[in-house]
Amino acid sequence: MTQTRMLSVVLPVYNEETTLPELHRRLTDVMEALGRSYELVFVDDGSTDQSHEILQRMHSEDSHIRILKFSRNFGHHIALTAGLDYAQGDAVVLMDADLQDQPEEIPRLLETYEQGFDVVVGIRRNKKFPWYRRMLSQSFRWLLKKSLGVTFAGGVFRILSRRVVEEVKRCRESDRMLLGLIQWVGFRQTQVDVEHGARYAGASKYSLRKQWELARNTLLTFSTTPLRLATHLGNLFLFVSLVGLFHRLWSGGWQAFSGWPVVTLLILFVGGIQLVCTGILGSYLARVVNDTRSRPLYVIEEDSPSKPPQPKP
Ligand code: UDP
Ligand code: MG
Repeated sequence: MTQTRMLSVVLPVYNEETTLPELHRRLTDVMEALGRSYELVFVDDGSTDQSHEILQRMHSEDSHIRILKFSRNFGHHIALTAGLDYAQGDAVVLMDADLQDQPEEIPRLLETYEQGFDVVVGIRRNKKFPWYRRMLSQSFRWLLKKSLGVTFAGGVFRILSRRVVEEVKRCRESDRMLLGLIQWVGFRQTQVDVEHGARYAGASKYSLRKQWELARNTLLTFSTTPLRLATHLGNLFLFVSLVGLFHRLWSGGWQAFSGWPVVTLLILFVGGIQLVCTGILGSYLARVVNDTRSRPLYVIEEDSPSKPPQPKP
């Protein structure tokens, strides 16, 4: 059982002018009712509408608000990262600012968290995304699980303990899939179901390009399997071509060793060798990639210092 004295809520904001006042009102109601000290960290990710002016107005009226303003649009996960860097609470809530993640669910997350967890992820019931988004995201999760054994549950809405925040802060890779990093850190993680609301106003700020970038980052930063694909393909091509070539030699001798089937097999053979070589390069590259990520190599949960030697009786 952990008692949270101070709670930070991190909210990435990109052109959410219509939603901000309502968000602030609902958040304040929830946080005041919780009776803990709290801060609301709004990260303005280079908004081009009136979001920043509205945030500043809210800031002048509410001492709980902190605004971090980016110089330009850096993207959702970088905004969340900045929020984590500056948040001061014992526990930090991450949530989207469009009211799809509902402030009223925070007490439930906190309740589970205080039972002794480090990460409580909100699993969104009845996702309010268009059907093609749900389908794309589900197939991607399925693909990740089947091919790489990686599962990432839930959306952004979650609560993190101070020690998880500190470990995530040590991961400074630039193409980041923050939710994956949080999972990677470990400690006691669990999930609770949360209601997913419709967007309060405006349209999704996640263009198809941004979704694609996130999917690519997820794939490339959590696995080097795609790099090894070349070796596997190359081996397959080599095997097929060698079997084919030997078969022709065996059945027809040198006379039959001509014509387009042989040319095709030879192309396959050379292609196979090239792919295997690319794969070998890939394996070396994978190691470079792993090292340049410069993630900390381990996370220590507890350090029991050695005892001084006991004096002999
Ligand atoms: N957002 C951001 N930077 C971006 C895109 C989005 O900070 O480049 C914010 C946005 O204001 C919202 C959250 O990230 O608070 C999630 O974005 P959105 O609701 O558009 O994504 P969706 O819910 O459609 O996945
Ligand atoms: Mg949204």
